[in-house]
Amino acid sequence: MNTPSIEDYIKAIYKSGSQGEITSRDIARRVGVSAPAVSKMLRRLVELKLVRMHPATGIHLTPFGERTALQTIRRHRLLELFLVRELGYHWDEVHAEAERLEHHISPLFEERIAEKLGHPDFDPHGDPIPTAAGIMPNIEEIPISAAEEGSTFVITRLQDLPELLRYAASLELLPGAVIEFLGRQPFGGPYNILVSGESVALAPEAAEQIFGRTMA
Ligand SMILES: [Zn+2]
Repeated sequence: MNTPSIEDYIKAIYKSGSQGEITSRDIARRVGVSAPAVSKMLRRLVELKLVRMHPATGIHLTPFGERTALQTIRRHRLLELFLVRELGYHWDEVHAEAERLEHHISPLFEERIAEKLGHPDFDPHGDPIPTAAGIMPNIEEIPISAAEEGSTFVITRLQDLPELLRYAASLELLPGAVIEFLGRQPFGGPYNILVSGESVALAPEAAEQIFGRTMA
């Protein structure tokens, strides 16, 4: 792996913050580095005015840090869609490529990609693409694992993990797919769902990382 950049840390802090309190341990896990590396980087990010730290309130991105995070996420998601649509990549191949490229493209290149793709709202696995002005659409969703028994559920997004995407594709669980949620097998077993009328046993870990909404 390449040495993680400042942008990788900022992105990790942003994503960590969207799931509650930001901890050094969570940042370390997301970036794939040790705890001391995170402490060192956090001091640098404070100097650069990207992050604010306080014993009482914890770790936060400054408005400048948040803009930086959203710009990087925008470039990542546009690149993923560009690679799939224009260069023929499979959706499980694009994450690592986008992780590298997101740090190197110019604002003009980013704008041209967005234009070429018709200013898309979502990346290949359904994650929303922040606007050029840095606005992240707020989407209400729950994981399949939290769906109600007997409900009809439309898939909107899958976590950006190559193994998960391969597994989901093999079961035809793509964004836009409509499934019926039948319930869970006992003793922490798989979730039973219907996909195009076919009964499928979905692994619990996958059911927690595939999101959507219940249809009325
Ligand atoms: Zn990705």
